[in-house]
Amino acid sequence: KRIDNHLPTADLQRLDAAHHLHPFTNGAELAEKGARVITRADGVMLTDSEGVEILDGMAGLWCVNLGYGRKELAEVAAAQMAQLPYYNTFFQTTHPPVVALSARIAELAPGNLNHVFFAGSGSEANDTNIRLVRHYWALKGKPEKKTVISRKNAYHGSSMGSGSLGGMAGMHAQGGMPIPDITHIDQPYWYGEGGDMDPAEFGLARARALEAEIDRIGEDKVAAFIAEPIQGAGAVIIPPETYWPEIQRICDERDILLIADEVICGFGRTGNWFGSQTLGIRPDIMTIAKGLSSGYQPIGGSVLSDEVAEVISSDEFAHGYTYSGHPVACAVALENLRLLEEEKVIEHVRDTAAPYLAQKWREIGDHPMVGEARIIGMMGALEMSPDKANRAPFKAEKGTVGLRCRERCFANGLVMRHVGDTMIISPPLIMTPADIDLLFERVVKSLDETL
Ligand code: PLP
Repeated sequence: KRIDNHLPTADLQRLDAAHHLHPFTNGAELAEKGARVITRADGVMLTDSEGVEILDGMAGLWCVNLGYGRKELAEVAAAQMAQLPYYNTFFQTTHPPVVALSARIAELAPGNLNHVFFAGSGSEANDTNIRLVRHYWALKGKPEKKTVISRKNAYHGSSMGSGSLGGMAGMHAQGGMPIPDITHIDQPYWYGEGGDMDPAEFGLARARALEAEIDRIGEDKVAAFIAEPIQGAGAVIIPPETYWPEIQRICDERDILLIADEVICGFGRTGNWFGSQTLGIRPDIMTIAKGLSSGYQPIGGSVLSDEVAEVISSDEFAHGYTYSGHPVACAVALENLRLLEEEKVIEHVRDTAAPYLAQKWREIGDHPMVGEARIIGMMGALEMSPDKANRAPFKAEKGTVGLRCRERCFANGLVMRHVGDTMIISPPLIMTPADIDLLFERVVKSLDETL
């Protein structure tokens, strides 16, 4: 049965403006333009209510790793709904999908990350992490160790806890974030903040800011450091190679836990199952969501090392969500992981899609609008600049050129996001070289028209 919009586009837009509040959106501005109505998707293509096809350069919100239209996932969801649509795992019960998914994640996760606490999203999972690391230290007799250090311009979610972990100034300006005992160090953003330093030197300096922050607060008061292996929403900030080894050294030497937020980097995006593997990170906890189910169901979680799980399990952790380990979400995630493996999607990223995309990205780097084109796996950014040599910003108000480029992309049948004047992509991992050619063509056309 095909589910379609029942109303003409203009009516949908009018009702949308009247009754639906969009996340991260100026509602008044949107009401004037009218939201584009997306009604269908298949593979890497979206279709709007007028029948126009749009290439999805963002995999939804960095999540539809397997691409759209996979009937296997719909069938598994329907079967699970018919058999056991819901049951919780709070009070000494469990169910097959949550058991199977936990065991599968333990198999895939690196090192001794063998235990999963489920949530409904990345935000919820990071909220879990805040309480979890504090409770961990309290159980170890160190209740004072409760500060979590994060980074400016990080994104860890939108709830009070996860938004506080994030370092988005615009979010902190609204509604009372950050909550206490969370601090933020500078990010390893060489293009924007590296000045005259070479990238290696800059990477070391920004990693050592963690050590300085631990000293400032006192090691006996710091619970954990959290970071995305590659900052996604911050504008695909790929740290210099010197950065992560130094962060790892500091976390190993100072008695603090390392949380890798793999919500974007996990499940193939960087050419390995997890970004931690690509960047050589050994976390104590990983946050997962998005690609875990390729966005077909809302699900997230915290993956804990044996050591952390043993401590947490020694007491009742008074925490959980009605939808922790939701059977339908777990069944769909499990099937998604099966398909990613069976269809060798991660090998496809590593051997075919990412190298080809990187080649195209180098070509785009020569465009007169582009100051830097950076890419890793299937996530990339274009820093737009009128003056490549000096990495200079545009004279217009920050974000104006980015918005114009994003609108050109949209008009040209391509979803790309802008963060200020930086354009970002994170397409479905299944992109073929032909899809990448189309992406390239539409990016270049849009850049030309933005000039
Ligand atoms: N962590 C990272 C790295 C993210 O990119 C996001 C979302 O973009 C989140 C956490 C929050 O996940 P969710 O939107 O599922 O709450």
